[in-house]
Amino acid sequence: MGFCVNCGNQHQDGVRFCRFCGTAQPSEQLLARLRSEAEQIRLLRMQLQQQSNQQNDAYARLEAMRQQAEAAARLNQQQNQNYRSPGW
Ligand SMILES: [Zn+2]
Repeated sequence: MGFCVNCGNQHQDGVRFCRFCGTAQPSEQLLARLRSEAEQIRLLRMQLQQQSNQQNDAYARLEAMRQQAEAAARLNQQQNQNYRSPGW
């Protein structure tokens, strides 16, 4: 059993035209193709999402490294000041 894509009335499987409104019905082949296309799009979306997640990860790692470098630089400065101050 299938349903008309236009009027929604029930008709038997394999009919090419709705007996209520005459609209051509998608064949099983077409439905299978649409299903596989939808599946491919879904996979593609997942891959794209994974890629953007990886890019975000790389950016986060870079940002963490930058902050560590800044903290190390500050620490260095403080140590230098502490080292010099008694001499001045
Ligand atoms: Zn119909």
